[in-house]
Amino acid sequence: MLRFICTLLFIFITFQTQGWGFYGHQKINEHAVYLLPPQMMVFFKPHIRYLSVHAPDADKRRYIIADEGPRHYIDLDLFGNYPYAHLPRRWEDAVAQFSEDTLLSRGIVPWHVMRTYKLLINAFEEKNATKILKLAADLGHYISDAHVPLHTSHNHNGQFTNQHGIHGFWESRVPELLAEGEFDFFIGKAEYLKYPEDYIWNRILESNLACDSVLLFEKNLSEQMRKDTKYAFEERNGKVIRQYSAVFTRNYHEQLNKMVERRMRMAIFSTASFWFTAWVNAGQPDLSILIKDGIETNHEELEKINNAWQSGKAMLGRQED
Ligand SMILES: [Zn+2]
Repeated sequence: MLRFICTLLFIFITFQTQGWGFYGHQKINEHAVYLLPPQMMVFFKPHIRYLSVHAPDADKRRYIIADEGPRHYIDLDLFGNYPYAHLPRRWEDAVAQFSEDTLLSRGIVPWHVMRTYKLLINAFEEKNATKILKLAADLGHYISDAHVPLHTSHNHNGQFTNQHGIHGFWESRVPELLAEGEFDFFIGKAEYLKYPEDYIWNRILESNLACDSVLLFEKNLSEQMRKDTKYAFEERNGKVIRQYSAVFTRNYHEQLNKMVERRMRMAIFSTASFWFTAWVNAGQPDLSILIKDGIETNHEELEKINNAWQSGKAMLGRQED
């Protein structure tokens, strides 16, 4: 019996260790394509599957690349109080003030978004189809992580407030249950970002402000609902797992005034706008000539990443367990 419970617990824990969840990341990159202007759509639309399938690659890389972990979050609350005016927004200034080691230990997502964005501009300038798609997929991933409130908090999995598991609940369980049938993905068009650095910091500050509600409503609801209605055992990929029940999930979503949907929509808009801005700042290269270029896939590397992800723990950075 004990072994059975341990197995269930293990499955429950491993289920919730993935950024927005693979599903969320894939949806965000996919929907972002539809916000692009025709000059970009001509190249991005034929590769929409690539952008979606490879959206979670950055999370998988945490299992084989030591530097990958801190790129997905920032523990802003370790830098004082909102709006963290003493934390320099530019990487060089932040390093000078806090040291690179300190920053890496607290997460570097805003700076890594900017780094990936600049590499994407270079890829557009080089008109390198493979690089453009790989970097666009990664950029969408990091931007999306920056929109998740608990990716900006030291209490990233409710471990200090006795709310263990809330991380995966917010970013995986809610969208996986509700996005397909109920989220509104009509978002409009990508916009040119005059100040991309300010833009991503503002999204991160928004995420950080939302942390209180993310935690508070889960706590309130847990007190209101009986424990046996909070969780449910459901089959997933042939395995029985314990997860937050559908009724608890729906209640939480409504109490948060659809925050998960709002953040997901914003992540889609931000991703498309960053892709668009990178293309404009690269001089609006003609992407129609790239369609004929095949995408070079490093199958060996992908297999390594997939195997490591399926079998192990992330090398560095934290797990949401
Ligand atoms: Zn991530």
